[in-house]
Amino acid sequence: MADSSRVLVVNSGSSSLKYAVVEPDSATMVADGVIERIGDGPVADHSAALQAAFEELTESGRPLESLNLAAVGHRVVHGGPNLYEPTLIDDDVFAQLGELEPLAELHNPPAVQGIKVARKALPDLPHIAVFDTAFFHDLPPAAATYAIRRDIAQRWGVRRYGFHGTSHQYVSEEVAKFLDAPLDSLNQIVLHLGNGASASAIAGGRPVDTSMGLTPLEGLVMGTRSGDIDPGIFSYVSRTAGLGVEEFDDILNDESGVFGLGGEKDFRALHKRIESGDEAAKLAYDVYIHRLRKYIGGYMAVLGNTDVITFTAGVGENDAAVRRDALSGLTPLGVELDERRNESPDKGARRISSDGSPTTVLVVPTNEELAIAQACAELIRNPGS
Ligand code: ADP
Repeated sequence: MADSSRVLVVNSGSSSLKYAVVEPDSATMVADGVIERIGDGPVADHSAALQAAFEELTESGRPLESLNLAAVGHRVVHGGPNLYEPTLIDDDVFAQLGELEPLAELHNPPAVQGIKVARKALPDLPHIAVFDTAFFHDLPPAAATYAIRRDIAQRWGVRRYGFHGTSHQYVSEEVAKFLDAPLDSLNQIVLHLGNGASASAIAGGRPVDTSMGLTPLEGLVMGTRSGDIDPGIFSYVSRTAGLGVEEFDDILNDESGVFGLGGEKDFRALHKRIESGDEAAKLAYDVYIHRLRKYIGGYMAVLGNTDVITFTAGVGENDAAVRRDALSGLTPLGVELDERRNESPDKGARRISSDGSPTTVLVVPTNEELAIAQACAELIRNPGS
């Protein structure tokens, strides 16, 4: 791939389409943007959203060709049991993404829509799927297996897949660079705290546990998702409140988490409510922090010795209070935050633990678009590897 070749990264969600043009070799973001409110108003569907993205990219009247694209990289949430490596999308792969796997059917419709319109609009470029599940494909069986009847799990691919893998992998590699230490020498905990949130334990560059499971619902409390709940809750509320499967699924995904408890999914707004004395918002925050601390402690036990804990994504990179409350009082476990460093408004990769802290604590910005573009460039360079 020539140095100037660029990758268009497309991340299609159910109601938004994020795009970026990235130069993978120089790690440069040439352009990026987001088309919001798909299906609502002028952006009728994913086709219209991609068209709007193209228009933004060619604002100055330049043709699409002048963007010098070498490939289009698509973020795909679920690869199911069989797809995980970055994969060139031909008709067969395209069919698998949307139709063949029941898991893909649940999670991939927006990405499949995005891929469909992008392949039509840019038919001469390779389109590559990069899976959110990829990094966790080889989770140790003890971490990947649910303790449910084996035949059901095997028949339906019920296991823990893990998500946000592109971010966990990218950030753990950036951590090694920041510390100037070999990746394989580090035991790490990565906390990806955005709208969705997940934690991972990574030993020597290989994930040994992660908090999301069969779907991105498991684990930490999130903006609108519940994270872990007692599996008995579903049968209880379906019997008592008469809630059906679809309705309950929507509640857990879209109406729970800090939003369901505290009325806000954005932490900036949640803090404002807490400051004004809103007790529901305070409880939402406390539940969020409590769950986060349980995962941190659990992963410290899984790893035995933890060299570094890293915060990333919207909340992790920006919310000093969350970082402070997640780690307060952990000096006996070897984790000591430096309050002043933690409060610093710096944006880049930075250390926020005290110099004497046995476990280093970092903030490292994630960059999923760059990681996807680099995975695409690598596949084009080495198609067979
Ligand atoms: P996504 O999961 O959509 O990629 P992000 O990683 O961009 O999400 O995180 C978005 C969330 O980050 C917002 O909903 C908000 O809760 C949080 N956030 C963003 N900026 C700040 C900030 N300055 N302070 C606290 N929280 C922030």
